[in-house]
Amino acid sequence: MFGFSDTHLQINFYFLFVNHRNLVIYVTMAYSAKKKQAGVDDMVLISKLKDEEVMENLKKRHATEVIYTYISNVLISVNPYKALPIFGPDQVQEYRGKFRHELPPHIYALAESAYKSLTSEGENQCVIISGESGAGKTEASKLIMQYVAAVSGKGEGVERVKRIILDSNPLLEAFGNAKTLRNNNSSRFGKYFEIQFDNKGDPVGGKITNYLLEKSRVIMQTQGERNFHIFYQLCAGADQSIRDEYGISQASDYHYLNQSGCYTVDNIDDASEYNDTIKAMDTIGINAHQRKEILKLVAGILWLGNISFVESGTGSEISDPRILDFASDLLGIQSQVLKDALLFRIITTGFGKTAEVFNVPQTPDQATHIRDGLAKTLYDRLFTWLVGRINDSMDSKNQDVKLLSVLDIYGFEIFDKNGFEQFCINYVNEKLQQIFIELTLKAEQEEYAQEGIQWEPIKYFNNQVVVDLIESSKPKPGIFAILDDTCATTHALESNVADNKLLTKLKESIDNDNFVGRNDDFIVKHYAGNVTYSVDGFTDKNKDQLYNTLIECMQSSTMPFVKQFFPENTREASGKKPTTAGFKIKQSSLELIAALKKCQPHYIRCMKPNESKSSKEFDVKRMLHQVKYLGLLENIRVRRAGYAYRQIYDKFLERFAILSRKTWPSPFVGESKQGCSVLLKDLNIDEKEWQMGKTKMFLRSPETLFDLEERKEKKF
Ligand code: ADP
Ligand code: MG
Repeated sequence: MFGFSDTHLQINFYFLFVNHRNLVIYVTMAYSAKKKQAGVDDMVLISKLKDEEVMENLKKRHATEVIYTYISNVLISVNPYKALPIFGPDQVQEYRGKFRHELPPHIYALAESAYKSLTSEGENQCVIISGESGAGKTEASKLIMQYVAAVSGKGEGVERVKRIILDSNPLLEAFGNAKTLRNNNSSRFGKYFEIQFDNKGDPVGGKITNYLLEKSRVIMQTQGERNFHIFYQLCAGADQSIRDEYGISQASDYHYLNQSGCYTVDNIDDASEYNDTIKAMDTIGINAHQRKEILKLVAGILWLGNISFVESGTGSEISDPRILDFASDLLGIQSQVLKDALLFRIITTGFGKTAEVFNVPQTPDQATHIRDGLAKTLYDRLFTWLVGRINDSMDSKNQDVKLLSVLDIYGFEIFDKNGFEQFCINYVNEKLQQIFIELTLKAEQEEYAQEGIQWEPIKYFNNQVVVDLIESSKPKPGIFAILDDTCATTHALESNVADNKLLTKLKESIDNDNFVGRNDDFIVKHYAGNVTYSVDGFTDKNKDQLYNTLIECMQSSTMPFVKQFFPENTREASGKKPTTAGFKIKQSSLELIAALKKCQPHYIRCMKPNESKSSKEFDVKRMLHQVKYLGLLENIRVRRAGYAYRQIYDKFLERFAILSRKTWPSPFVGESKQGCSVLLKDLNIDEKEWQMGKTKMFLRSPETLFDLEERKEKKF
C-alpha cells in the first residue's frame, strides 16, 4: 500500500492544468503507463526522522512528477508548475467512494474524505490550505470545489449553486488577484468559502468571508508587478461604447497602472478574461445596469489617479482641471466639491462656542495622499460589495445545513521590504499555525494523556509566544495594542513622526525574545523565519481613515451606487475610539478560528519547489526551510508515536460488531469496552496494533482500520 509501489495508470483524458488562470483544457488522448512511484506515499513511514529525510522524499517524488504525499491525514502538495495528467472527470471517478489508502495520495482523496464525513457523519468539515505565496493554495482550493461539485447531486437549484460557486472564482480573481513577482495570479485577499449542503449532501448555498484586501496595490505596485487584473481587463476588453463613455484607453495612460513597467502577464489574455468576468457577473445576477456602474467606478478610480497637483501659494492647485472634471463626472460629484476635498483639510480646534474651523491648504504631496486614500477606499469597498453580491446570490436561507469550507489565505510573506500588510498577513499565519498545532499535535498528545494511553511525549515548538507578542493586550501590551495606542495619541502629527514614535514605544515596552527593535525597523522571529518590518506607514495604515470632508464629498454623489459605499455618520460625537485596521484583523481572525474549531479539519500544506516557477528545479535549501517551518517532522513524530484511529467504544462496536459471531447477530451483552476487546481478539488483530483507553479504542496503524473496513465491505 505504501512505499515503492507500482501504479498502473490507465488514463483516457489528459487534463491539462495550463499555467493560466481558470483555463482548463481537455485533450483526448489514450495513455497507459506503468509508473514507478518514488519515495514513500505516507511520510509516517520514512526511515529516519530528520528534516533532510522528509525533504529527500519530496525531492525523489518531485523528480518523478509525484506532487502529493501524506503525513497521515495531512496532504503535502508540491507545486509542479506544469500540467499533469492527474486531474479531470476520470480521476474524479477513480477516487469517488474510495478510502484514502486505496489509491496514490491525491487532493481528490482528501476532498472525498471530507465530503464522505460530511454526508455520512453529518459533521461540518473544513479544509485549511496553507503555504507561501505561489505554492499552489488557490489552485488546490479550486480542485476541492471542482471535486465536490462533480460528485454531489444534480437538479436545477443545485446546478445553479454549483455554477455560482465555480463562477465566483473568475470574478473574485479579477478584482482580488494580481501579478506579483512570485505568482502571476496571486490572491491579494484571504478567502473563507463555506459551501452549504442539505441532508442529501447536495450543495444548496454558500458564503464567502473575505479578509484584508491588499488595497495599497490600487495606487502603487513594485517594479514588475501589476495592479488588480480588472483594470487591465477593462483596458483590453471593454467595447467601444464603454471606452468612449468612461474614457478607457490603454493601461499605460493611467498613473495607477504605469508606475511598475508591467502591463501584460505571460499566458494571460486580459481581453478574453474580461469576457469571463462579465459572464461571471451575469451568473451571480448582476444586471447590465449594475455592471455598467461597477465598470464606471473602476474607470473613475483610474481617472482619479490621473489627477495631479502643483504647488500654489501655501497649498496646491490641480494641474489639469479637465481630468478633475472627468473623474468627478464618473463618480457623480461636482468637480468643485471634489477639488476642495482634495486641496484642503478642515481642522477643528476647541469645543462648542470656542470651536474654530480652519481650512488648511494641502501641499501637493498631501493632496496626492488624500487622492490615493480615496482611491483605495473606493476599491476596497467595491470589492467587499462584490463579495456581498456573490453571497446574496448563494444565500440558501436554509438554517439546517452542513458546511464544507475551504480556507485559502495568503501564506507567510518575507520580502526585502516588509510593511504593515506583511505584518498583518504573517500574524494571520501565526494564528493558523496555532490552530494547526492545537488541533493536530496538542490535541493528540492531550488525548493520549486523558485516555491513559502509553506513549512518548513529543516536544514541539509552540508559537503562542509570537502570537502573544503581536496580539496580547494585558498584562503586557503587544504590537497591535501599542500601535493602536500610538495612533490614538498622534492625531495631529505627520505620519512619519508618528511611525517613529511607534518604534520608540515598541522598543521601550516590549520585552520578548521574539522581538528585536532596531534603529529604523524591528524584527519579529516568526515560526516561519525572521522578518524585518519597516515602520513606514504603520500608523497611517492602521488608522485607515478618510477625512470627514472627503467622506461628505463622496456622500454628495448623485450616483446611489457610489454613495452607498459611504454610510459613515461624520457628525457622530468624536471621542469615540475609531476602529483600526489592526483591531479589525484581530477580530476577524478570532472569528475565523472560532469557525474552524467547529469543523473537522483537513490540512493541505502547499510547498513551492523554487522561485523561478520552473517545473524542473527543486531548490533543496528552500524546500528544507519550508519543511522546517511547516513543522512536518513534528507532525510525523506525533503520528508515529501515536495511533492513527480512535473511536469511542459504543460507536466502534456498533460499526464493526457485524464482523464477529460473538457480537453479531445477537448483540454483545455487557460493556461496549469489553465487547470491542472480544471482537478484536476474535478477529485475530495483533495486540500490538490496539490499545484501550478510558473511553476509546485506539488503532495504531491505518492499515488495521482499512483491514476492518474491507472485511466489513465483503460482508455486504
Ligand atoms: P498561491 O495561491 O499559493 O499563491 P496559486 O494556487 O495561485 O498559488 O499557484 C500559483 C501557480 O502555480 C498557478 O498559477 C499555476 O501556474 C501553478 N500551479 C499551482 N498548482 C498547480 C497544479 N496543481 N498543477 C499545475 N500547476 C499548478
Ligand atoms: Mg492564492
